[in-house]
Amino acid sequence: MFKIAVLPGDGIGVEIVPEAVKVLKAIGRKYGHSFEFNEGLIGGAAIDAVGVPLPEETLRLCHNSDAILLGAIGGPKWDNLPVHLRPEAGALLPLRKALGLYANLRPATLYNALMDASTLKREVIEGIDIMVIRELTGGLYFGEKRREETAAGQCAIDTLTYTTEEIERIARLGFEIARQRKKVLHSVDKANVLESSRLWRETVTELAKEYPDVELIHMYVDNCAMQLVRWPKQFDVIVTENMFGDILTDQASMLTGSIGMLPSASLGGKVGLYEPSHGSAPDIAGQKKANPLATILSAAMMLRYSFNLAEEAGAVEDAVVRVLDLGFRTPDIMQDGGKPVNTEEMGDRVVEQISGH
Ligand code: NAD
Repeated sequence: MFKIAVLPGDGIGVEIVPEAVKVLKAIGRKYGHSFEFNEGLIGGAAIDAVGVPLPEETLRLCHNSDAILLGAIGGPKWDNLPVHLRPEAGALLPLRKALGLYANLRPATLYNALMDASTLKREVIEGIDIMVIRELTGGLYFGEKRREETAAGQCAIDTLTYTTEEIERIARLGFEIARQRKKVLHSVDKANVLESSRLWRETVTELAKEYPDVELIHMYVDNCAMQLVRWPKQFDVIVTENMFGDILTDQASMLTGSIGMLPSASLGGKVGLYEPSHGSAPDIAGQKKANPLATILSAAMMLRYSFNLAEEAGAVEDAVVRVLDLGFRTPDIMQDGGKPVNTEEMGDRVVEQISGH
């Protein structure tokens, strides 16, 4: 029995999460697993109900679960609240911190049926399947920040620190995931300029001795940004620090052209967090237009990384490919000749492919 905390959140979150739950139930039926789903409040929905974006009860539910399925949070209604009460700063960051989620995994997989959605040429992107692993709790975003008055006006200081331990644990995840895939790992840094990057490179190089079956390639971040659009097929798994990862994950994800298709996983602690890469899309909320596939593919990542059910994860991913090949499209990925479906129907089509009827 796997216990899943279900946090739909706001906007389209409440529409897409039930579709992923439906898909997990179909997997449970087909492969004989039992999943227990327990719903919790988060984000604006929690502010409206109990006055805070991350209630204690939700945090407890997450700690007592095997994995978390999150929709999206935020929206214009809550934009003007003080920072600590805003959905993102008040819920997402504290949740990641409380759960020790130091690694963010974002795959950029191109679906052949959606090739024309990318801004890049077909021959450049055909067949890309990249996993970017971003360090999530260290580096510049978490270092000490301050301002000083100087003769030249104000001086703003952000500090970028990394310890060997922080680098080693994220790099280890990189090697482990590379080992399950094509056994090539790109470690991205700026070791020609930054001391933290020199420690990064030394640490990753040292760790590589434990993974002789994985080819390790070091790359500077500026070159990586260029290579991602020049020849993305050279990459399989990329591991990098927080800020470089923030930028490169967005860049890599856009190779595939569609935000409604991009899943993510945040790992590191006992309980993994799975959510689509997009936000709560207030502009289309409540209209049944949202594409649930990013959330469904996040559920597939949950099966693979939290429950170690690789075959079941593959079954979800294959079902998504077949649904797209059959031409079913939510509005965000609609093309000439596509068969229009709403959020719920898209979920149903995926379930049909899994169940075989
Ligand atoms: P967004 O990702 O919500 O939307 C950007 C655009 O993509 C919109 O036009 C939207 O309609 C479209 N879109 C997004 N997901 C889609 C889907 N599944 N299907 C079809 N179309 C989709 O980003 P935004 O508009 O910048 O932010 C909206 C709200 O979401 C804000 O309050 C923001 O703070 C929040 N947000 C939350 C998260 C999160 O919960 N992790 C992440 C990003 C943004």
